[in-house]
Amino acid sequence: METIGFNTAILHNAPNGEPNTGATLPPIYQSSAFQHESAEILERLFENKAAGFSYTRINNPTIEAFEKKITMLEGGISSVACASGMAALTNAFLNILQAGDEIVAAPGLYGGTIDLFRDFEAFGIKTFYAKENTPKAFENQITKRTKLIFAETIGNPKLDVTDIKGLADIAHQYDVPLIIDNTTATPYLVKPLLLGADIVVNSSSKYINGNSDAISGILTDAGTYRWSKEKYPGLSDYIKFGKMAYIAKLRKGLFRNTGACLSPQNAFLNCIGLETLGLRMQRHCTNALALATFLEQLDADITVNYPGLASSPYHELAKSQLHNGYGGIVTFRTGSKERAFQIINSLKLPLIISNVGDTKTLVIHPASTISLYCTEQEKEASGVYDDLIRISVGIEDIEDLKADFENALKGGN
Ligand SMILES: *Cc1c(COP(=O)(O)O)cnc(C)c1O
Repeated sequence: METIGFNTAILHNAPNGEPNTGATLPPIYQSSAFQHESAEILERLFENKAAGFSYTRINNPTIEAFEKKITMLEGGISSVACASGMAALTNAFLNILQAGDEIVAAPGLYGGTIDLFRDFEAFGIKTFYAKENTPKAFENQITKRTKLIFAETIGNPKLDVTDIKGLADIAHQYDVPLIIDNTTATPYLVKPLLLGADIVVNSSSKYINGNSDAISGILTDAGTYRWSKEKYPGLSDYIKFGKMAYIAKLRKGLFRNTGACLSPQNAFLNCIGLETLGLRMQRHCTNALALATFLEQLDADITVNYPGLASSPYHELAKSQLHNGYGGIVTFRTGSKERAFQIINSLKLPLIISNVGDTKTLVIHPASTISLYCTEQEKEASGVYDDLIRISVGIEDIEDLKADFENALKGGN
């Protein structure tokens, strides 16, 4: 099975097109509901005794095609696509949590996820952050109430790398599932489920979509975690589904009831974007490494952070865990907020945008934008400083990017 390459698998191993007509892409089933020939058929569908579609909030053939592709790429057993990365994370967590439960999370998370964990406090769910991103530091926060462990493959924007295998071992030692946000790495760099994670979440708004034309998210279950009804009472009715317990509960419960579904049109756009994920990631990674190396040598007054540089404290781990590259995000400290703004404003190619994973190079000053509402402590934990610039390196010709950054760092014109 693993003899086939990543790009070949995307193009040939997952459901593609539509056999009745010979269409080579999944058709867009832009229909809210699906009719059936008898009341009995619809009854069987609702009882889960027959396969089929009834209502797009629950499932839809175009969305299913996208889900099957990601399930194949991440090496899981089933996926649920959602309206956004945040919707996928919310569903992934709340499917197993209840009041009184605790989450143990990595210190440098995506700002939206930190905000979400704060929202959970109103429902009696508390989050405790590991002091640093090592399995041992996570272990120190685990209590009897811990019901899940959460980290990002490559933290955004801290660019710390999680030791997924080491963390999965700790999680399973305490009999809790490990959920990994793989947005910044994508399955092209690493498949967390194959390293022992139980559930993986991707914001497919980013690299998977690739062209920034649709917001979406998707979660994929490895089917490996064994849920007990004592520890996860909410799952007790679903344990009979065995490996499918988690996904069955989600689809029959929280996912349909929160109405977090993806639109068929956006699922289709993701299917197109996905075809070039491997090609784009390869280019994002070589461009990011070249730009990071160039910036590090160019100006002694700036500090460049990229897991592909030997100067990153996560370089050795990244080298052993990630395949094919170190991701497309680079950050650097400029010395002051003023200089950061001056550099951003002098750049001619990068777009000033709060997004990552676009084909175009994007820059942002995180402290005044995406991390504006974080406390000083949270900012420091996520590696956000007042003089920091984040670059989402695009797929442009590298010499043009280098020249543009060189000009901006020398004062611009
Ligand atoms: C963007 C992002 C999210 C949120 O995804 P949306 O699709 O914007 O809701 C979650 N995690 C990470 C690491 C992200 O970069």
